Amino acid sequence: MSNYSPLEVTFVKGEGCWLTDTKGDQYLDALSGIGVVNLGHCHPVITKNLIDQSQQLLHTSNVYRIGNQEKLAKELCTLAKMDKVFFSNSGAEANEAAIKIVRLFARSKDIEKPVILTANQGFHGRTMATLSATGQSKVQAGFAPLMSEFIHVNYDDIEAISDYQSNANVVAVMVEPIQGEAGIIIPKNDYLNKVQELCNKNGWLLILDGVQSCMGRTGKLFAHEHNQITPDILCLAKGLGNGVPIGACLAKGVASKMLTPGTHGSTFGGNPLVTSAALGVLDVFQNTNVLENVNKMSEYFRSEFDNKIKNNIAVKELRIKGLMIGIGLDSNIIDCSQLVKKALKDNLLINVTGTTIRMLPPLIITKEEIDILISKLIKLIST
Ligand SMILES: *Cc1c(COP(=O)(O)O)cnc(C)c1O
Repeated sequence: MSNYSPLEVTFVKGEGCWLTDTKGDQYLDALSGIGVVNLGHCHPVITKNLIDQSQQLLHTSNVYRIGNQEKLAKELCTLAKMDKVFFSNSGAEANEAAIKIVRLFARSKDIEKPVILTANQGFHGRTMATLSATGQSKVQAGFAPLMSEFIHVNYDDIEAISDYQSNANVVAVMVEPIQGEAGIIIPKNDYLNKVQELCNKNGWLLILDGVQSCMGRTGKLFAHEHNQITPDILCLAKGLGNGVPIGACLAKGVASKMLTPGTHGSTFGGNPLVTSAALGVLDVFQNTNVLENVNKMSEYFRSEFDNKIKNNIAVKELRIKGLMIGIGLDSNIIDCSQLVKKALKDNLLINVTGTTIRMLPPLIITKEEIDILISKLIKLIST
């Protein structure tokens, strides 16, 4: 169907930060398939797990116990300080599970019409429930009637949330630790802490949609670790499988007890193959210095940006946390709509959201590759 409009390029091979197209030309991938291939293309540990598992067993369904799934659940819950996990096949489905948990939580409190506070410009997916949660009219256009429980408030505005304390129907707050699709919007350092305080005070569930900002992207395995908090529900996907489709909805305490046998499910969810990839991802995070590399390369990108790009008249600001990078541009000076194609011609893969160049390069990127990225960015914004 015509819901995508792909660029005129087809990639046939990937290795680390590089993709090769059908003509044999190489491209620097500063987008990682939209924050998915966080450990680089065809990471050997994950490839080996996939080969081994595909020779053993691909799928049995959740009618039976799945060894890899149980192992992954234990490891994820330990790392994230959560109690239970539901495995899905995507970010939207992880959020769907979170929204269903909230409905059951509301029932348990005899609230008939629950309200979930979500953020303007936030992005939570494209299913009916998650597009209703999404605070972007372009995602919702044409799809009314939407689910009515979401009230959108300004992001990074704690007053906007605290104003709802008198509303007895509010049961949860759902936000991204950093807004990704909105163009890398980084809230104030203590925003998430204050949101959690309000949730604790009012008995609301805190749902963090870490689909894009977790799995090492910000320099910690989970983005909210910067705030030393633990949400009630944490949704993961994108980088969790480094390219195979897997999502996870983790929950702790009361939120972890809502789903009982028969209340939710997924045929493919957490199958032996995809969980073997995610186990490989956790293996790499625990046994290599990839997080250290994110922090080093983030610092290096920032200093190179300050030295070589900051003073360009088209550049307004840099928004960066780990390797989640947004460069805000002045659309009076540069035509942002042409930048993705211009970059592609120079063998660079980026995203442009409104007036922001958005980059999510592989977390294994090297100093030499940052140098190439910086020089390509200089060329890109030179008018
Ligand atoms: C990408 C994304 C989603 C949706 O994930 P899908 O796998 O495309 O369903 C949800 N939330 C956030 C924050 C995302 O970045």
